Amino acid sequence: MASERGPRALGGPMNEELLQADLERYRQKALELGASGAAVIPAAWVEVDERVRLKCIVPRCDHAGLTPNCPPNAPDLDLVRRALARYRWAVLIKCDVDIASHAPAAGTSTEEPLSFHRQGNQLVEDLERLAFRDGYHLTMGFGGGSCMADLCRGQPCQAMAGGACRFPYRSRPSMEAIGVDVMSLIHRAGWSAYAMQDDPNAAPFAITVGIVFVS
Ligand code: SF4
Repeated sequence: MASERGPRALGGPMNEELLQADLERYRQKALELGASGAAVIPAAWVEVDERVRLKCIVPRCDHAGLTPNCPPNAPDLDLVRRALARYRWAVLIKCDVDIASHAPAAGTSTEEPLSFHRQGNQLVEDLERLAFRDGYHLTMGFGGGSCMADLCRGQPCQAMAGGACRFPYRSRPSMEAIGVDVMSLIHRAGWSAYAMQDDPNAAPFAITVGIVFVS
C-alpha cells in the first residue's frame, strides 16, 4: 500500500497538524478496508497488565510457548511498557467476526481454518505499512491471536526449530501477548465485546481488535 502523500523522509519532522491529519486518514482507511470501527486514541489509554500476559498460560493456550511471539517468549513487559510510553497517538480498529464461518470444515482439510483474527491482523499490517511509508519510522502494530494460527495455519513454527520465520516482517506478538488490556481499551473507545459461548449464536456479536501506534 503506497503512501498517498508522496515520499516523505523517514523520521523527518512532523508538525502536529500533519500528524492529526494523517491519523484521521488512517482511521478512514481502516473503515474503507472493512473495519467495523476505528478510533484515533491517545497512546496513554493503553494499559499493560501482567494479568493479561499471564492469561496466555493460565489456563494454557494451545499456542503458549510454541512461537517466539507467544508467552512466555513474547517481549518482556517492562520493555513493552517503556516502549509504548514513548508513543503519543495510535489508531484502534475492530472488525466484526462471523464465528460460525471459522469453524473447521469436517474431514476436508488438515489445515486449520482461517483465524478469526485474520481480517483485523491484515488491517494492522496495512495501516502500519501506510504510516511507515508516510515517514513514521517507529510505527508499530499489534493484532490478535497467535501467528501460528493466523499465518502458519497450525503448522509447527520454523523459527522455534532454528530456521527462519515463514512470515518475516509480518509475524508479531498479539496485543494480549504484550499484556495490553484490550477489553478496558475498547470500553474507553465506546465499544464492547462478549465472551464466546459454546453456542456461537449466544453472544450478540464477536469482534477482533488491533492497534497501530503511529508516533
Ligand atoms: S514461523 Fe509461523 S509460527 Fe513461527 S514465528 Fe513465524 S509466523 Fe509465527
